Parts: sequence; C-alpha cells; structure tokens
Amino acid sequence: MPEPHPLAAPLLAGERRALAKAITLAESSRPEHERSAQELLAQVMPRAGGSVRVGLTGVPGVGKSTFIEALGLFLADQGKRVAVLAVDPSSARTGGSIMGDKTRMPRLTVHPRAFIRPSPSGGTLGGVARRTRETLTLCEAAGYDVLLVETVGVGQSETQVAAMTDLFVLLTLPNAGDELQGIKRGIMELADLCVVNKADTAPQAAVRAQTELRVALTLLTPHGAAWRPAALRASALTGEGIPEVWAKVEDYTRTVDLAAKRRAQNAVWFDELLREAAWRSFLAGVDAGHLRALRAEVEAGRLTAVQGVGQLLASRQTTTPA
Ligand code: GDP
Repeated sequence: MPEPHPLAAPLLAGERRALAKAITLAESSRPEHERSAQELLAQVMPRAGGSVRVGLTGVPGVGKSTFIEALGLFLADQGKRVAVLAVDPSSARTGGSIMGDKTRMPRLTVHPRAFIRPSPSGGTLGGVARRTRETLTLCEAAGYDVLLVETVGVGQSETQVAAMTDLFVLLTLPNAGDELQGIKRGIMELADLCVVNKADTAPQAAVRAQTELRVALTLLTPHGAAWRPAALRASALTGEGIPEVWAKVEDYTRTVDLAAKRRAQNAVWFDELLREAAWRSFLAGVDAGHLRALRAEVEAGRLTAVQGVGQLLASRQTTTPA
C-alpha cells in the first residue's frame, strides 16, 4: 500500500484549499510535482466519476462567461456544487488569457458552492488539455456535482474539451443566418446541444436561428443515434431559458450511457498519451543527423518516404541496446 497522499483526505472531504493546491500540483511541470500529482490522482480516482461534465464553446462575445455564471448560479442555488474550468489556447501560447479570469463571473466566484479555476497558462494546447482533464478528476473527487469546462471557440481546443466531457454545448447568436457560415462544421458536429444566446436582444431572429440550427443538427446526426442534438433559446442576461437548458442536459444524461462514453474517452486518452510518449522515446533513440539526412533524401526524391522510414527503423534497431 502506498502512503496516503497528504492532500488526499482534505481533498476528498471537499476542502477548497486542498483542491486548489492539488490542481496547482497537477499543473506543475516539475518532475517531483508530477509524480506527486499522479500518486494523488491514483488515490482519489476511485471517488471521481460522479459528476456531470459539460463542455461549452462559442465565439468571443457570444456570452459564455455570462451564460456560465447564470447556469452556475441556477445550479448552486439548487444545492449543487459547481466547478468552472477553462481551456484557453491563447494562454497556452502567450501566457496571457483571453478568458477564465475570475472577474468575469463575479457572483459565481463568491458563491460558497462554486469553484472557479482560471485556465492554466504555459505549455502546449495538449498540455493545457491534459491538466484540465486531471483537474476534472480532482474536482469530482472533491465532490463537485457539475463541472463546466469553457473553451474559447476558435481553435482545436473544442475537440479536446469534447473528448473529456459528457456533453458539449455550442452557444450561438440570434443572427445565425450569417453566423452559421462562420461556425466550423467540425464544431457543429461536436455539439450535443446548441443554445441561441442573447435571445432577448432579437426574439424573432432567435426563433429563426433556432429553427435553422435544428435543421443543421438533424442533417449532421447519424441515423439511429441515441441522442438527437437539440437547439434551444436562452438569455444569459435575464436568465430566461436557463432552466430549460439544464432540463435538456438532464434529459441527455438519462438517454446516453455516460459510463460507456467515459470508458471510451479514457481509452482514447490512453492511446493519445501512448502515441506521444512512444514518439518521444523513439526520437530519443535515433541519431538526429541520420534522420535529417534521410529526410533530405526523401525531399530530393532520391529515396521514397517508405524507404526512408524503413532505413531509419533499421538503423535504430541496430543501435539501440536490447
Ligand atoms: P464571452 O466572451 O463569450 O465570455 O462573452 P461575455 O459573457 O463576456 O458577454 C459579452 C457581452 O454580452 C457582455 O457585455 C454581456 O453582458 C453580454 N451578454 C451576454 N449574454 C447576454 C444575453 O443573453 N443578453 C444580452 N442582452 N446580453 C448578453
């Protein structure tokens, strides 16, 4: 039996300070912190898995933080514990965040049943996504019932977030006719639920947008799918439509086999990490000069790509000790 991690008991008791410390540990790139975080994760993992994980995306200005605050307060007022996390690729690149700072959700931030964690800064998108995944496990172990994961809606972070959440929500604006053009088909395909936000600003247009989204979603849904993605209207500002959004989420959690979905997500995640680790370990074992020379040969057309790869593998097999 390994020694209990000092943060395990307070974390499982739901102490926010312990949770915050545990997340900081998981976000650290120092090897001893990483080891410690992995031990902690392994110890608390059996107590994780009981939450609903909701991913949210939408272009900047669509009202994500307002919406998350409205939904978060609605849930917290019902007695649920709500954690809000962010995956922000801009913070991964520059260290500066275009979202995820606490001031964006002033009322939720001070709610005793809410926990808001800004986006981890630094590292690659893959690194940020990995930390967010581990943070989700920590929040669950600390007893949070609903985990809201926000992503900025402009890049590949959506795929990452959809791969770590139970359900993925796309927020759009009432002028969907124009906007639909701008929503990448790939993001629409990830959505289990679309919400036309700011319906208060243009009620008629919001109804039209909802109808258009319904049609688009129907076209994208494979025949026989267990869940048919829905389109709703809401106003994060007035709170109108927020209870209906949550009712839809609950509907989803009753319809879809979430345990199976999470098992599949874990397996995919394992494969991804393995591919990454195998690639790194492979590169560490090859002669960089030889690799460059072979690539140049392939570039110049003197060697086929298959031959180049074959030679590299052969050289590695002969130089790597068994
Ligand atoms: P984000 O960039 O997607 O996080 O968007 P914000 O939540 O910061 O919202 C952008 C602006 O839209 C803010 O001024 C909000 O007050 C406003 N807003 C958000 N939701 C609504 C809504 O439902 N109705 C109206 N009228 N304004 C909203």
